[in-house]
Amino acid sequence: MSAQMNDSVEFARLLREHGFRATFGRVALLTALQKAKKPVTVEYVVKNLKGKIDQANAYRAVEALEKKGLVRRIDLGHDHAHYELATGKHHHHLVCDSCGKIADVEIAEQKMERAALRAAREFKSIRTHSLEFFGTCQACTV
Ligand SMILES: [Zn+2]
Ligand SMILES: [Zn+2]
Ligand SMILES: [Zn+2]
Repeated sequence: MSAQMNDSVEFARLLREHGFRATFGRVALLTALQKAKKPVTVEYVVKNLKGKIDQANAYRAVEALEKKGLVRRIDLGHDHAHYELATGKHHHHLVCDSCGKIADVEIAEQKMERAALRAAREFKSIRTHSLEFFGTCQACTV
């Protein structure tokens, strides 16, 4: 997928490429996820969009976008899911247990999946993977 996705025209094109109608709500949602620059909750997006999309529609949209690989679901160990745009470079996250700071960690997708298949020889293929790291950031260590 192309790296530069910084306007609604690009998002509209991306949506249509993946079989969606480029509705105002979906474009606004993708734009909000891009602006957040970190994994955020659906509630955060809805609040951020100030009425451009309601909560029920936002949940439905995010799930549909996730199925098509435009949005990635991230488990930060809270009781609710976080989401981010999946159109950028594949990465994982390092999360501070104390302050919630999130840093991106790049590990090649193929490398991870090869390692997993080597470790579990009874598996033939991998659909997806999810991996986040949790610990304490520099600022919280002092
Ligand atoms: Zn991320
Ligand atoms: Zn911290
Ligand atoms: Zn990965």
